[in-house]
Amino acid sequence: DNFSLHSQYLNPQMVNVLKTIGFDRHYVRAEGPYLFDDQGDRYLDLLSGFGVFALGRNHPKVVQALQDVLTAELPNLVQMDVSILSGLLAEKLQQITPPGLDRIFFANSGTESVEAAIKFSRHATGRSKIVYCSGGYHGLTMGSLSATGDPHFRAGFGPFLPDFIEIPFGDLAALDQALSRKDVAAFITEPIQGHGVWIPEASYLPGAAALCRKYGSLFIADEVQTGLGRTGKWWAVEHFGVEPDLLCMAKALSGGFVPVGAVACRSWIFDKVFNRMDRAVVHGSTFGKNNLAMAAGLATLDVLETDGWIDHAAQMGQQIVADLQPLVGQYECLKAVRGLGMMMALEFGEPKSLTLKMSWKMLETANRGLFSQIITVPLFTRHRILSQVAGYGMNVVKFIPPLTLQDSDRRWIVEAVTDVVADAHR
Ligand code: PMP
Repeated sequence: DNFSLHSQYLNPQMVNVLKTIGFDRHYVRAEGPYLFDDQGDRYLDLLSGFGVFALGRNHPKVVQALQDVLTAELPNLVQMDVSILSGLLAEKLQQITPPGLDRIFFANSGTESVEAAIKFSRHATGRSKIVYCSGGYHGLTMGSLSATGDPHFRAGFGPFLPDFIEIPFGDLAALDQALSRKDVAAFITEPIQGHGVWIPEASYLPGAAALCRKYGSLFIADEVQTGLGRTGKWWAVEHFGVEPDLLCMAKALSGGFVPVGAVACRSWIFDKVFNRMDRAVVHGSTFGKNNLAMAAGLATLDVLETDGWIDHAAQMGQQIVADLQPLVGQYECLKAVRGLGMMMALEFGEPKSLTLKMSWKMLETANRGLFSQIITVPLFTRHRILSQVAGYGMNVVKFIPPLTLQDSDRRWIVEAVTDVVADAHR
């Protein structure tokens, strides 16, 4: 089976850890935010395929749209044509993306959308430098990895692309300095850093956008994770009143069924890259804008909008965070509960009391992240909740569930977290 196959590459200690967080289960059915194993047990999945299942798994309307497109005998991947479905999806995306992003390029993943944004920025500005943030995640191909500011992902794969400059997230002075030589093509950042759910101060993103304008650099918002309603608005940049020059999206765009990615960008940028007169410049993708991805995308956006899931996500997320907030004052290892919409995190930190301090130190030296596993393991074993250890120091437990969670799910989460956090302090 799959687990035994993977376990041969791991040491026995790691195999045991993985077993306790659910890697040895056989999930045989999925519906909405739930997984069912071969014993008939039900699990609440707060990972949702790393955020792709905004509508939960197997949403019937998206399933129907995919079935329809498979039997419609539409031409697919006619590389000389734009295809009707890609036109419709581009039109819809133009309506819902921030003002000024009038062109859409389709690719097959988040990392490909980032690669495209980097290439478009370089070509449009005639500059080569790319500024990115520590702790940010943009993908694992060489271009996107060169902009990913976490040694955990970079180790063993260098050297990285030249002309990529790392600065701290949230630091406008550092950005000013990096951009001031006027040789930077683009500043790329997630509006909220997904790896640890770091939400910047309200002034950061508007300040960054203003600096980009001042120095002639482009602002790339990587909304692969935060986009399409996850944070309670279509785009996380809307919380900060920012209009990026390029916006990367992927994950939830196809409801989780089909690989897809896209870049929305200003028309002058797109037109420069795809200028038919300038055949020296080429960018594209064989499978980009394939009918399955486009049909799933149209259905997903339609359900998100007509069923009101984005407002629902905003309210439900706020309620979950509010319900968990009192635990912060009560338990000393829990430093913060934060989130926007359905992007939430519990942050753990060094405790003050001596006994807890000792176990904290022991765990940190044994394996960074093990303290967070004190939370994620019982969340799984006792409460059948799948969650994720994240953050720069692996000191964050992260939830990115479907936007469709109901009150019964909220109670499931709040009771479970309250129990495991209390238990971790015993
Ligand atoms: N950017 C961000 C912000 C992401 O969260 C991710 C995926 N976690 C990516 C890019 C890469 O996307 P993909 O895995 O689809 O290539």
